[in-house]
Amino acid sequence: MSRNNNHSRAALKLNIMGETLGERVSTYLSPTLKEDPSEAEVVSHKLMIRAGLIRKLSSGIYNFLPMGLRSLWKLERIIRAEMNRAGAKEVLLPCVQPGELWRESGRWDHYGNELLRFKDRHDHDYVFGPTHEEVITDIIRREIRSFRDMPLNLYQIQTKFRDEIRPRFGLMRGREFIMKDAYSFDIDDIEADLSYRAMYRAYESIFRKCGLDFAVVEADSGPIGGSYSHEFMVLADTGEDALVSCPSCGYAANLEKAQLKHYPAEPAKTSELTKIHTPNCTDVPTLAKFLDIPRSSILKSMLFETQTFDGPQYVLAVIPGHREINLIKLKNALGGLIPVLASPEKAQEITGVVKGYVTPLNSKVRIIADQVAASMPAGVVGAGEKDYHYTGAKPGIDFKIDGVFDLATTEEGDPCPQCDCPVVIKRGIEVGHVFKLGVKYSIPMGASFAKVDGQDAPIVMGCYGIGVGRTLAASIEQNHDRDGIIWPMALSPFQVVLLPLEVQNEEVTSVAESLFDGLTDLGVETLLDDRDLRPGHKFKDADLLGIPLKVTISKKNLAANRLELKHRRTGEVIMLPVDRAKEKVLDLVKEAMERGSTS
Ligand code: ATP
Ligand code: MG
Repeated sequence: MSRNNNHSRAALKLNIMGETLGERVSTYLSPTLKEDPSEAEVVSHKLMIRAGLIRKLSSGIYNFLPMGLRSLWKLERIIRAEMNRAGAKEVLLPCVQPGELWRESGRWDHYGNELLRFKDRHDHDYVFGPTHEEVITDIIRREIRSFRDMPLNLYQIQTKFRDEIRPRFGLMRGREFIMKDAYSFDIDDIEADLSYRAMYRAYESIFRKCGLDFAVVEADSGPIGGSYSHEFMVLADTGEDALVSCPSCGYAANLEKAQLKHYPAEPAKTSELTKIHTPNCTDVPTLAKFLDIPRSSILKSMLFETQTFDGPQYVLAVIPGHREINLIKLKNALGGLIPVLASPEKAQEITGVVKGYVTPLNSKVRIIADQVAASMPAGVVGAGEKDYHYTGAKPGIDFKIDGVFDLATTEEGDPCPQCDCPVVIKRGIEVGHVFKLGVKYSIPMGASFAKVDGQDAPIVMGCYGIGVGRTLAASIEQNHDRDGIIWPMALSPFQVVLLPLEVQNEEVTSVAESLFDGLTDLGVETLLDDRDLRPGHKFKDADLLGIPLKVTISKKNLAANRLELKHRRTGEVIMLPVDRAKEKVLDLVKEAMERGSTS
């Protein structure tokens, strides 16, 4: 990078927030890379590194460089504005939290290895906050006294740490990451629902203003049930989450949560219960082939282990052979206990039979059945004896059923739970999550208030998170091409980039400098690539960086008194008369900002 000494120490113009309006590449830290970094798997990670937005410090821990930080500020500003508009009040809570609070809420024992714990010099336990329900409830139990103090919603934009088992995809799944988290406090359920809806709407406007294509889906809210949890998903093929949506009625849910009322299955013949020899048929496909029957005629019995205060407990889940069991649904069916598929050795120890032949017949273990399995007149089941199965096993008659639940994972084409039309499955990136907490924290942590009648009641809470870094990454997943990032105007680090092609030429330089001056005077965020480099190099860097508008200043065009303006997204080129250039650029920036900014 060549340094322009005349300008390196000049005073810079600032916007009302104290941020620079114009920067010169020669005096900026914006290192670009030609090659994809080897450790990056997804495009947003590759491009954020290549464009010099972030650098890795350690696994799942990233530095933001100046260019990346500018985009981060933009996003934070949008979030802040919408949160403030919705009446939430900003706070800033510490990253380091006393372990004592986590013991009070009960999460010290339940949060697991994602919680980074450490001790101070006095041997006191601390955690680096992965989230702030405990800290906020501690504030609120001291500060909220009566019904008059609510509704209240407090939010912050702050750093979290979760010791993720597989940090990956750059900012998308980091260990240290920035979250906007908000918490609402209300006097009762009805009021809490209003707070929830206000946040839901604020999130819709935030992601719309970012120019993102997103879907809102019902998410699993654990045994609380109901649709008290929604996730905001940016649609992208690289998303870690699968979502079910109905093109006909608009039903949308996370695959983990998507309900199924029914799905096609072909029952086995309702013959007498008959023992059949099935050598080496230890899995569904082999057995179906051997018996020449559809997989759905087989009722597979899977043994799960759960940990309870009284030690391990076992449950046999029965589901048609052509379907995958949904572990979140199973967990909810078990009242929140986490099911783990028993190992073949464990299954043999508990049932006395090798894997593949476990039977629901005469089971001592509790049986819960998928709704479709339970309604089948008959199926093929294990015989509880190696190399044998039974055909004609009638659920509820030949074997007991202790509970019937919707346990199967939805597949593309399954009937929508609302309108029966075939659903589709898409992939998405969870950028936001709204959750009705109810009294989950206020009861154990003693956060109550005096009602109108003077009686005490627990505060009803909600919590609302946005992954700030993840949203930036998601925006790039959705907006890029082979040359680099294509920022929506709202999130771009700069609004326009100026490329003087021949910086040794006085006319070129003076036009570029005066446009730079003029634009920054008008408040347009402008990057001037004043480096003495080949045009090809500068064009490549500009495309990689993805700033929406690019103005090229060349000897050739100046001869005709023109500048070339190119839209990064569409590639559309317009020629601008030199003396009208800055007004025209300003108009385009304003237009894009007003449009909700996808160009
Ligand atoms: P996930 O299911 O992706 O692990 P989560 O459900 O644990 O996320 P929440 O506790 O709901 O996450 O956190 C709120 C938001 O914080 C998420 O919607 C997501 O955008 C963001 N987030 C969570 N974990 C990470 C992470 N490891 N890296 C970056 N952002 C994250
Ligand atoms: Mg979540």
